[in-house]
Amino acid sequence: MTDTIDNIGKDFIRQIIIADNASGKHDGNVVTRFPPEPNGYLHIGHVMSICLNFGIAEEFNGRCYLRFDDTNPVKEDQDFVDSIMADVHWLGFDWEDRLTHAADYFEDLYSCAVKLIEDGKAYVDSLSAGQIREYRGTLTEPGKDSPHRDRSVEENLDLFRRMRAGEFDDGAYVLRARIDMAAPNMNLRDPALYRIRKINHQQTGNAWSIYPMYDFAHTVSDALEGITHSLCTLEFEDHRPLYEWILDNLDLPNRPRQIEFSRLNVAYGITSKRKLAALIEGGFVSGWDDPRMPTVAGMRRRGYTPQSIRNFVRNAGVTKKDKLIEMGALENCVREDLNQIAPRAMAVLNPLKVVFLNHPQGEMEMLPAMNHPNNPELGVREIPFGREIFIERDDFMEDPPRKFFRLRPGGEVRLRYAYIIKCVDVIKNDAGEILEVHCTYDPDTKSGRPGADRKVKGTIHWVSADESVTVEVRLFDRMFTLANPDANHEGKTVADFLNPDSLNVVSEARVEPALVGMEPGTHVQFERLGYFLIDTKDSQPGQPVFNRVVTLRDSWAKIEKAQLAEI
Ligand code: ATP
Ligand code: MG
Repeated sequence: MTDTIDNIGKDFIRQIIIADNASGKHDGNVVTRFPPEPNGYLHIGHVMSICLNFGIAEEFNGRCYLRFDDTNPVKEDQDFVDSIMADVHWLGFDWEDRLTHAADYFEDLYSCAVKLIEDGKAYVDSLSAGQIREYRGTLTEPGKDSPHRDRSVEENLDLFRRMRAGEFDDGAYVLRARIDMAAPNMNLRDPALYRIRKINHQQTGNAWSIYPMYDFAHTVSDALEGITHSLCTLEFEDHRPLYEWILDNLDLPNRPRQIEFSRLNVAYGITSKRKLAALIEGGFVSGWDDPRMPTVAGMRRRGYTPQSIRNFVRNAGVTKKDKLIEMGALENCVREDLNQIAPRAMAVLNPLKVVFLNHPQGEMEMLPAMNHPNNPELGVREIPFGREIFIERDDFMEDPPRKFFRLRPGGEVRLRYAYIIKCVDVIKNDAGEILEVHCTYDPDTKSGRPGADRKVKGTIHWVSADESVTVEVRLFDRMFTLANPDANHEGKTVADFLNPDSLNVVSEARVEPALVGMEPGTHVQFERLGYFLIDTKDSQPGQPVFNRVVTLRDSWAKIEKAQLAEI
């Protein structure tokens, strides 16, 4: 990996690692970690960190830990732990035997804190949280020393021991690093290292009454695990001096280097667990796995594939600049992947009945249809064609504009995999609503017949009226009406920007009968309508529910264009 040619096109983090390996730093070892707090489900932003940490370990023959940064038991939960593990596996990464928790190091962390106290580098403070904030100063004014800053080592050790023993109430004392209350970087103004929290922890139960603060736990865990490159998002840049201070002042087996990169943000989505949780609490979505959510669970339920999400994250790249990436870029990756693997089928979302006056009653023929245009391995199926079919209501217009190439009175259109048909009559009710369309079909125009090559301008999809099945289809749109609902909008929350039309349930769609037997979790492309997934949660045997993963956008327009060009 030291060849400079290999470095071209590598992001700045990989460049650093290549240089470190070349210089023999860390003896050529590359050890990374993905460190989620188990306080919510993973979202698309986390996927970037996962791909980066696990990806780098893979590329450089290194190792990557999955470490739960479980230092705040108030917000943590086993369900979150389980979902995070399932999601990382689903994305295609494996921590093997490297599953750890900050809690695994609670005893070591305690010893490190004792060491800092013994060295006069930490003290127990009895100021209240409010007072600590007051004493902290501001960005323009230095802070003030706490009156307890000069407690003796003995007294500090005694108080810290008793904090651990559970002798005091929450908030009575905190352990603080003794750094510099006038430091320009606020993170160095005697940051808290430990606080009292008399609460059960999902890993350690009631063993502890004190819990380490994130910065302290994170740094020491990195060092103890032998992490070489500690990759985190830009908001931790200001914490790096504290990270280094902790490493400088403890005798730890290894010195990791913290490197920051910019967060991945997706337009029309949000990447904050707290805000996603608020959407669930507000009842705006059905849960963490609602198919509209930018969570891994939501994207899986929607039908995005791990490959497409990984491709998206890879294309987004690793930089130091904040970025808001179009949702369309993710959808393109999904399309590209599903295009390869999804068998084709036909469905009609808004059915309009078409009756063929020249087709004998009760007769049905089977027409062959390719399951995939360029993957013959997916085979051929037979679709039933009879006297009555359904087409999309908006593929028929009584009084269409000039460029409308679908069905109109007196006009012709081709049915996909079947015949050219001609509209001869429109049947309406008293209110003037169209009930059905009467057509004739041209028996000579099916595949293998002399008229098979006859051209008409439009091709539409359809299903048999008798042999199709009614199913529920769920169509999704952007969850928000603004590209950046997450930004600070005066006095408003993300809930104010929810798109009221983000979920459209079609309860009477019609699909080919063969689809009813397919397993939940199966992908299919409904021609002209998009890629769909049979929902894994709400489908019942014989009653599939289809989620639209993504629309097809232009692919059908291209087919039509090519057809027009041939004319
Ligand atoms: P949130 O703000 O959603 O709670 P977080 O950063 O607090 O996110 P953690 O569980 O601490 O969530 O994140 C685990 C790792 O994922 C961290 O290293 C964090 O830097 C990284 N991460 C979180 N969000 C993003 C993002 N949008 N882009 C890239 N990496 C991210
Ligand atoms: Mg965090």
